[in-house]
Amino acid sequence: MKLVLIGAPAAGKGTQARKLIDKYKLAYISTGDMLREEVSKGTDLGLKVKSVMASGGLVSDDLIIAIVKERIKADDCKNGFILDGFPRTVVQAEKLDELIEHIDKAIYIDCPDEILLERITARQTCPKCGASYNKISVPSKVEGICDVCGEHLTQRKDDTVEAGKARLETFHNQSEPLVDYYKKQGRLFDVDGTMGIDKITEAIFAELGD
Ligand code: AMP
Repeated sequence: MKLVLIGAPAAGKGTQARKLIDKYKLAYISTGDMLREEVSKGTDLGLKVKSVMASGGLVSDDLIIAIVKERIKADDCKNGFILDGFPRTVVQAEKLDELIEHIDKAIYIDCPDEILLERITARQTCPKCGASYNKISVPSKVEGICDVCGEHLTQRKDDTVEAGKARLETFHNQSEPLVDYYKKQGRLFDVDGTMGIDKITEAIFAELGD
């Protein structure tokens, strides 16, 4: 199964992706995580993308397509994969279709901006295992410590009000057209992102089946 997750920042893509990879045994591909790793290692690629990421813009289509093209060739993708944060533009979606023929389903987690901005600024992530928390709605059991691996939680550099607003704008301008793109292909599943984590998971599982 080849899945794409679409949603504005903090819509809950990463949280749902974790549940989907467990159930369907898929490889998890987050282009944001891959880029953040490059930035933290200080590689040439990391240095190139650091400032655009911090400002809430998108890195170039060519660059991100080249990264995904290589990643989906890996062994762990043989049983299928879930893409979180890619495609983010129609150009990227068209290129993906060229690379793999077509995806099975694009899951769009739809959520209003006011809620997203609140979530963005309250979000904490684990730099080691990638688990995501929210100080208000999904707090860790011990404040500031990851429930899964015990690491100290951090706030993403782009999870500020200013960068958050810019990322929402980027989503509306550049990524929202993907909803129509996949709707026209008959591959879109639209889910209400305000329902609560478990209800959203249930709806997605019901759509995808066993
Ligand atoms: P994310 O963790 O998915 O929110 O991604 C963090 C940042 O990485 C984004 O705000 C972009 O700057 C960059 N990024 C991640 N995926 C893509 C993509 N598919 N196309 C362009 N930029 C991306």
